[in-house]
Amino acid sequence: MKLTGLKHMENIQDYTREELVKWLEDKGVRSFRAGQIFKWIYLKQASCFDEMTDLGKEMRTLLSEHFYLHRLDLEDKQVSSDATEKFLFRLNDGHHIESVLIPEKDHFTLCVSTQVGCAMACKFCLTARGGMKRNLSVAEIIGQVRDARFYLLQKNIEPLQLSNIVFMGMGEPLANYDNLIKALEIIMDTDYGMKFAARRVTVSTSGLVPKIAQLGLDTDVNLAVSLNATDDKTRSALMPINNTYPISVLLDACKKFTMKPRNKITFEYILIKGINDSKQDALRLVTLLSPIRAKVNLIPFNEHEGSDFQRPEPKQILAFLQILLDRDMTAMTRKSKGDDISAACGQLKAKLETP
Ligand code: SAH
Repeated sequence: MKLTGLKHMENIQDYTREELVKWLEDKGVRSFRAGQIFKWIYLKQASCFDEMTDLGKEMRTLLSEHFYLHRLDLEDKQVSSDATEKFLFRLNDGHHIESVLIPEKDHFTLCVSTQVGCAMACKFCLTARGGMKRNLSVAEIIGQVRDARFYLLQKNIEPLQLSNIVFMGMGEPLANYDNLIKALEIIMDTDYGMKFAARRVTVSTSGLVPKIAQLGLDTDVNLAVSLNATDDKTRSALMPINNTYPISVLLDACKKFTMKPRNKITFEYILIKGINDSKQDALRLVTLLSPIRAKVNLIPFNEHEGSDFQRPEPKQILAFLQILLDRDMTAMTRKSKGDDISAACGQLKAKLETP
């Protein structure tokens, strides 16, 4: 659908159900209609208001006079040798974002972006290179999920098989907090929305401490924290956010994070050769995380052009993991999926240099 001439209209996917109820009530329409509309958009994958046959002509006209309903503009799609797929979307203002669809044994996981670019400036991450452009709207966040399910539907795969979402794409989710929360509301709306279970949704942060507590109060989603180093000197050199919220402050926020009794916080730890991969690092990591209900996800550094960092030898990676396991930590090495199409952790850049 071409969007020229629609500037005065609103994207209906920017609305949470509660907001739509309000809008409808203002127009004298009963609130249950919002649920019907949501089902059409998010469960039945409607492409336009005219498909919403149980709404009545007048209602559909009212909607199409105020809102538009469209899919993201898929500019390119790449498929990895491991079947991971990367989508490149062109946004209305010409910016680009990427999402990654990862097939697992019996379901799919979608890695979702929350910003065009990123302001966190982590030294190892390709997304950081182009700097921060802007936050994604609710519709742009939600659109990635709805469109990925539509894509599965077209391939004759049950859309609900896309059951897991990780906010680990481009951007810092907690820096786009309000839109993230609204998007989560739609994603986890079990009656009318996308029906994702909270335990299947993970929000990853580089460590925006004030928002971590807030996230725990506002939602039940899983928290992942990109720790990546065990001392402040190293972490600050890799991740400037550590100058504002050093490790002790970050871990304190994690300790206080409200979650269900059996849940754990995932700590992502990139292994970079000679920087944070020593035996001492592994031991310090155990000490740091011992007071926290934690699991560790080791991510061997994904090399990319223009970065001097290297991935440690497999032997070194295994030795690091073994130290954690020997001390009864829940830990694993994350298998990098889609690295041959630059879809792995830290490799998303979506034409950031040519907006
Ligand atoms: N900004 C959020 C969401 C992005 S998640 C966050 O930092 O958590 C992306 C994950 O990939 C983070 O854990 C990050 O530490 C990791 N990562 C970034 N660049 C990487 C690279 N080159 N190799 C491996 N992991 C990388």
